Amino acid sequence: MKRILAAGDTHVGQVRDGNEDSFVVADSVFAVADGMGGHLAGEVASEAALEPVRALDGRVFPDADAAIAALRDAVVTANRTVSGMAHDEPTYRGMGTTLTAALLEGRRLHLAHVGDSRAYLLRDGRLRQLTADHTLVQHLVDEGQISREQAATHPQRSVITRAIGVGPDIDVDTISLDLAAHDVLLLCSDGLTGVVDDDELAEELSSADEPEAVVARLIERANAGGGPDNITVVVLRYDPDAASGDGESARRAHPTITISSRVDRDDTDWAGRLGSVGTPGLDGVEPEGERGTVKAARAMRRLTAALIGFAVLVAIAAGVGAFLLSQQYFVGLDGEQLVVYRGVDTSVGPVQLSWIVERSQVTVDEVQDWYVPTLQSGVPAINLADARRIIDNAPLSALEPEDDEPEDDEPEDDEPEDDEPGDLAG
Ligand code: MN
Repeated sequence: MKRILAAGDTHVGQVRDGNEDSFVVADSVFAVADGMGGHLAGEVASEAALEPVRALDGRVFPDADAAIAALRDAVVTANRTVSGMAHDEPTYRGMGTTLTAALLEGRRLHLAHVGDSRAYLLRDGRLRQLTADHTLVQHLVDEGQISREQAATHPQRSVITRAIGVGPDIDVDTISLDLAAHDVLLLCSDGLTGVVDDDELAEELSSADEPEAVVARLIERANAGGGPDNITVVVLRYDPDAASGDGESARRAHPTITISSRVDRDDTDWAGRLGSVGTPGLDGVEPEGERGTVKAARAMRRLTAALIGFAVLVAIAAGVGAFLLSQQYFVGLDGEQLVVYRGVDTSVGPVQLSWIVERSQVTVDEVQDWYVPTLQSGVPAINLADARRIIDNAPLSALEPEDDEPEDDEPEDDEPEDDEPGDLAG
């Protein structure tokens, strides 16, 4: 008999046209991916991201470190694959996906996590969220700018600050835990957690039913709550007693959980990378045997590169732009106006590392007061469309009073008239 009972399912929900979520339930790997980027692209992104994870199924690792390394590699590969597709194929531009993956190595479970899909553990009747959301609102909560309650209804609650496929580098959180008898693990997309609260999750996961039934009921609850998004649920139950005579439970006195986050980059030369944004030619490769003035110029360039690198590190340390560094776009202020910037929200002396790509009609006095500091520090966006969405959804301080009669004078307005029985056949 198997020590792990697992089941997973996905549902389109009640509002969306397509399902951009994907999941894996295999023997030793389990994962959820929530794609974005519009029709088809999101689906392609989430499926492509799961491929390298699926490839780990059944592999045996010499130790925990090897398993974690393989899981990280799979996520890095997923990122390279999806960002490559997004780069090469115009219809895939701007696509990306979350990825929350679990790898079973004996009685140990390793998790890798990017985005706002979540992993929860139910142990001894207590539910805990293992993953931290990579979202703007989680960032604002961490910074003390908004409360958890405000986060739950925040207009930008679905803006994620990390995703697979958005850039060449990816920060991966990993979590390792020793499983205890009767542990229940939940992996899910935000279509579940946006609707079903922790108490309800705990209630369903505590059930003694088969994982299939638990998955079905959780999806039912999300749909009953309006099903505003695609819903994906994977449930695992660890049951060592089901395995014949392995006596593992005796050695499992103190289950531990280790959490770490590391930047996995193809290129760690920050100064060179950022230098290429503002000042061309900061690469460290120089020919030998130069004359004095060239050497001085080279030294000067190195100093500049070092200063830029240092300033970036300071920005990271200050927590001002830690998550902005991996983003290409952000929404911010230019004087009174909300605008879309491209680049990095940092300037070093005369070197500006961001520039305005689009202006909006919205001004700072139209948005709610609490949102102003957020705009001042910059709101990261996955792409230009996402940046426009952020501006469209910005919390406005005073809504215009609604009149009974529509004021718009555009003749091509295609709103159906009240007295016409809807011509849905068209
Ligand atoms: Mn979603």
